[in-house]
Amino acid sequence: VWSQVPQAPPDAILGVTEAFKADKSPKKLNLGVGAYRTEEGKPVVLDVVKEAEQRIVNSPTGDKEYLGIGGLPEFCRLSAQLAYGECSKVLQEGRVAVVQSLSGTGSLRVGGEFLAAHYPHKIIYLPTPTWANHNKIFPNAGLEVRKYRYYLPRTRLLDYEGMMEDLKSAPQGAVVLLHACAHNPTGVDPSPQQWEGIRSIIQQRQLLPFFDSAYQGFASGSLERDATAVRMFADAGMELLLSQSYAKNMGLYGERVGALSVVTTDPKTTKKVESQLKQVIRPMYSNPPRHGAAIVAMILGNPKLYEHWKVELKGMADRIITMREKLHQALVDQGAPGDWSFILKQIGMFSFTGLTKEQVTNMTNKWHIYMTFDGRISMAGLSASCCSYLAEAMIDSYKN
Ligand code: PMP
Repeated sequence: VWSQVPQAPPDAILGVTEAFKADKSPKKLNLGVGAYRTEEGKPVVLDVVKEAEQRIVNSPTGDKEYLGIGGLPEFCRLSAQLAYGECSKVLQEGRVAVVQSLSGTGSLRVGGEFLAAHYPHKIIYLPTPTWANHNKIFPNAGLEVRKYRYYLPRTRLLDYEGMMEDLKSAPQGAVVLLHACAHNPTGVDPSPQQWEGIRSIIQQRQLLPFFDSAYQGFASGSLERDATAVRMFADAGMELLLSQSYAKNMGLYGERVGALSVVTTDPKTTKKVESQLKQVIRPMYSNPPRHGAAIVAMILGNPKLYEHWKVELKGMADRIITMREKLHQALVDQGAPGDWSFILKQIGMFSFTGLTKEQVTNMTNKWHIYMTFDGRISMAGLSASCCSYLAEAMIDSYKN
């Protein structure tokens, strides 16, 4: 019965890792997937995560019972506090409905399904370009996807005017997806002044912001700085949705731990919204896994562990920033023509190199360097010893 099922194309991002694994060259380099690696190219489990896991395993009250549909309450409370700030008005006023989710992807999907069921407008605007999975998550949830201009290849900067024009002409009530920080794949974020302009147009047009926060603390090394945009919108009294992921900032990728929150106007509405988020979750996966959420709750809720986390988080962010400097220097040292300062200006895990699809093919076929076809490289997958080789490959590929 299944012989007529067509072969699906490989995933744009995860497919790169498959191809990398099959390559036998000793020079091969995987800059495709967005996962942090040490200078030696190894995945990391944070020491603070190991410490929290020990405490969980040794806890006399630890069991493997089901969590509630909305997840671990302490985890939800602390996640909202991390995003909106300890003294935030929206939390004090009971205006945030929170549920635990299956990492960032799961939050976006539950948020999308909730909107499709309970929000009167079914259009969501995504930036061009955006994380590839956004283009599938939202239509699958029942929303119509439209695009707003975001990145200008010519300047390698934010297309602020284009973005503002598109938001101005979006139908009233449309949802607007915003990357909270470290825009993936471009690494280009609005300045605080531009954020204020974006916020103001969204409020004027009565659009609904949906923040995707996959990199809080991981982008700049500061949890507060990376939450600036979310807090700016929430503090202005706006209703919004927020997806949080602990994949990168706690290195909990495979534990699938995240949160979805919805900012409302009053505690009564918060309760109703929360009840409907649970209605989405129950028939989808019943309730979320407990181990990752227990780790996060332990770290966020214990001042000593929290401080330890912040140090390790900054260590990861700083290593990525150093890789930017090293790659930039290698390009300059090898006399690469043009201005490469964009590598230093971009923020977060990725650099958007401007390499075309054909040039990426050259990077892979000739140099055994694996990356996505949009020209994105993961700076977190790079080590100092590879920067010179990467620069050489980039210079060669740009010529093609
Ligand atoms: N949103 C963005 C912008 C991302 O870059 C990612 C991770 N690549 C995610 C969401 C979701 O990741 P996860 O489901 O692993 O938390």
